[in-house]
Amino acid sequence: MSENNHDSGFSFYIPMALIAAFLTGCLAISLMDVRENAYSISANGTVSGSELIKYESIVRKSPVYDSDGLRYRMVSSSDLGLGSKSVSQPESVPEKKESSSVEEENNGGELKLPMEHYINFVPHKKDCVAYLTFDDGPSENTDAILDILDYYNVKATFFVIYHKDMEDKYKAIVNAGHTIALHSYSHEYSSVYAGEASFFDEMNRISDYIYEQTGVRTKLMRFPGGSSNTISRKYSRGLMKKLKKSVTERGYVYQDWNVDSRDAAKAKTPPEKLLSNVRNSIGDKKTVVVLMHDSGNKTATTVQALPEIIELFYEKGYSMEKMDINTEQIHHNW
Ligand code: ZN
Repeated sequence: MSENNHDSGFSFYIPMALIAAFLTGCLAISLMDVRENAYSISANGTVSGSELIKYESIVRKSPVYDSDGLRYRMVSSSDLGLGSKSVSQPESVPEKKESSSVEEENNGGELKLPMEHYINFVPHKKDCVAYLTFDDGPSENTDAILDILDYYNVKATFFVIYHKDMEDKYKAIVNAGHTIALHSYSHEYSSVYAGEASFFDEMNRISDYIYEQTGVRTKLMRFPGGSSNTISRKYSRGLMKKLKKSVTERGYVYQDWNVDSRDAAKAKTPPEKLLSNVRNSIGDKKTVVVLMHDSGNKTATTVQALPEIIELFYEKGYSMEKMDINTEQIHHNW
């Protein structure tokens, strides 16, 4: 369900010496990407490559999608002689050709992440936070999105609507530790924005549905189309102004976004374009809220672009966190 109206811990250990540096200010982000048991280091700022080697690598599992379904391989720093964590490599997992980037294969367009992908991180820049948000789900893409987030150990926020036969996906989002939030029940603008009563009926219905499926009761929300949408005028002029006031009075917290991947703007947008859309609008924002979609639209390329979007934020020194009711609110003012 695209929205044309959208205008837009890793389990790693930080040496004690670095904790002090981190607490005192901005420590430049470094990202060390190690592949094929040989490493190369690209580090900016104060941390040299030789110091980086002392860090423990992150143990992660790499989801791989292929015709046989999902497979994992556990890798760890001990592969590299950098640490002492044990390695678990299921015997059933065949060796795969290493790949340095996500590929979309021709045989069915399945996503493949690298089998082995080692990334080391030093602490992120002070106060630089990116919130990855996914609207309109859950969908057939939810599992892939969750696996990618898990692969990078990133938590995100899902603004969901009602979808038939997707019961397990709501629970999967919550079980994976992400934030689930309200985005209306139907996402049909003619219903959502028919009037104030209709709007709150939509919100109550999705709230109850999320609660039934997950046990989570939330008042975190995103307006379909965002708080600055103009489509609602078609159904009820002046409604958005009223709604912004009344949702707040009723205890809801709404979030817009300030970086748009434009993943729902056009079919089959190349993943590189989504990446550059994000990269070009980060600017000097310390708090970034990225709009993406978990729409299940087969022509969407969100899943293909997501790994590189996540790596972009790591490279830029942002931590990636999930929202909660107390997260700084990013609101549109246009
Ligand atoms: Zn939406």
